[in-house]
Amino acid sequence: MKRRTFCKATVAAAAAATFPACSTKVAGGVPAISLSGEELTLEAAAVKELGESLNGRLLLSGDDGYDAARTIWNGMIDKRPALIAVCADAADVQNAVTFASERGLLVAVKGGGHSFPGKSVCEGGLMIDLSLMRSVEVNAEEKTAVVGGGALLGQLDTATFAHNLATTTGIVSHTGVGGFTLGGGFGRTDRKFGLAIDNVLAADLVTADGQLRHVSADENSDLYWAIRGGGGNFGVATSFTYQLHPFEPKIFGGSVVYPFEQAKDVLLFYAEYSESLPDEANVEPIGTVSPEGDKILVVEVCYAGDHKKAEQVFAPLRAFGKPMFDDIGPLSYQELQTKYDGVMGHGLQNYLKSGYIPELTPAAVEAIVENFDGENVSMMWFQHLGGQTARVAPDATAFAHRKVHSNFGIQGFWTDEAESDQRIAAVRKYYAAMEPHMAGFYTNLNDDTEKKTWGNYGSNYERLVKIKTEFDPHNLFRLNANIRPESA
Ligand SMILES: Cc1cc2nc3c(=O)[nH]c(=O)nc-3n(C[C@H](O)[C@H](O)[C@H](O)COP(=O)(O)OP(=O)(O)OC[C@H]3O[C@@H](n4cnc5c(N)ncnc54)[C@H](O)[C@@H]3O)c2cc1C
Repeated sequence: MKRRTFCKATVAAAAAATFPACSTKVAGGVPAISLSGEELTLEAAAVKELGESLNGRLLLSGDDGYDAARTIWNGMIDKRPALIAVCADAADVQNAVTFASERGLLVAVKGGGHSFPGKSVCEGGLMIDLSLMRSVEVNAEEKTAVVGGGALLGQLDTATFAHNLATTTGIVSHTGVGGFTLGGGFGRTDRKFGLAIDNVLAADLVTADGQLRHVSADENSDLYWAIRGGGGNFGVATSFTYQLHPFEPKIFGGSVVYPFEQAKDVLLFYAEYSESLPDEANVEPIGTVSPEGDKILVVEVCYAGDHKKAEQVFAPLRAFGKPMFDDIGPLSYQELQTKYDGVMGHGLQNYLKSGYIPELTPAAVEAIVENFDGENVSMMWFQHLGGQTARVAPDATAFAHRKVHSNFGIQGFWTDEAESDQRIAAVRKYYAAMEPHMAGFYTNLNDDTEKKTWGNYGSNYERLVKIKTEFDPHNLFRLNANIRPESA
């Protein structure tokens, strides 16, 4: 294997301590699945050599940790890779990528494992698991953080908040930085600081040829452009360098809660109100069900700035209609950032469809309210965009959807697998009713047809295909919102 040169001298001895468990199983070779879906057998000696080359571990079915490693957040997904390379560093990722590339083996890359459609695990291929690569190094003076490709958003938040700094992260702290960032990255501060990709200064990327490339505005600038919105199509990001911003960890925020009967009026008010808000304000309505079983509309707010100004900005919302509850006030941002960790916990059956709302028209509000049943569809929600996210040109990064009001999600989650068909059908029905009011979708969330996905990259698609063709001509990295190279 070419990449063996990256391994430390002590590695063989260290690996011997973990590898024997699988070496007995590989005697006759390991059955696996190729990129084109054909069955193949991985040579026993090569599998053993891969295992010995890793600073992390190679897991096969039956090994301790194999089932935990292949389990991802969405309980609907149950796939069994032939091999799982639990990588400890970039050299491990290079070895794993080279192994798969040389054999045309199907590859999945797991960052935080929060892909709704389950793109981070595969049946019969090689899963590259980055869960050991979770370091976060903050340089408070330069206001930057260098973060491992398998780190979780909560780890980034915790490390930056300690220095009164922050960058845009999402609303559930156990989501991975990897998938989140490569697809765009929305969060409560994106209107002020931009999307996660707008804060990526550089990344280290292992491309399909096994090379480790540093990408930034000055180095490999095509790849730097492509990974900011083009997902995992171009390689495995082993680290990201983020721009950080001064941030007071006590923000002004909370929720105003309305009975769902008022949802239409509140959303019509929100349509206008949200257009006039300063960048510091993030306001996101959520349709859900109260502990008593009643449908409610929660309007969650967060102001990343001066608290007095925040009081003025949120006053019209708090005075609107007849809310059941209002807990807006000074609040720990970390508390807000972990508020949904439990509700959105691991292991539930989950199905989601989403799309961008260019303008929140009365017809869109009507469709949103009419179709939310609060039974088969558990939740509908907005991710409030605009502000700084809209000031970046659509072709400045691979992320084309800059001029939209919000991202709108329709989500079902449940425990009993017997309910799956009816739950999925209900989410799809709601989505069909919303489609006329939406334009494009967040590639991080939907599992759509190839044609729809390609169209969704908009005018950036052609450039993405060129870069994909140059760096991944055989489409090794295909389990994502896939861009096909010209040759494949
Ligand atoms: C509970 C929950 C809350 C969410 N909240 C938000 C939110 O607030 N804002 C938002 O924008 N999105 C949010 N999302 C969507 C989220 O951004 C995507 O699901 C994202 O793909 C998750 O990244 P991950 O690393 O955890 O996922 P994974 O399942 O590990 O990976 C997802 C995709 O990214 C690829 N990938 C992951 N890491 C790397 C890497 N280091 N290098 C190359 N490819 C990689 C994988 O191969 C796969 O194609 C949420 C999702 C969930 C489930």
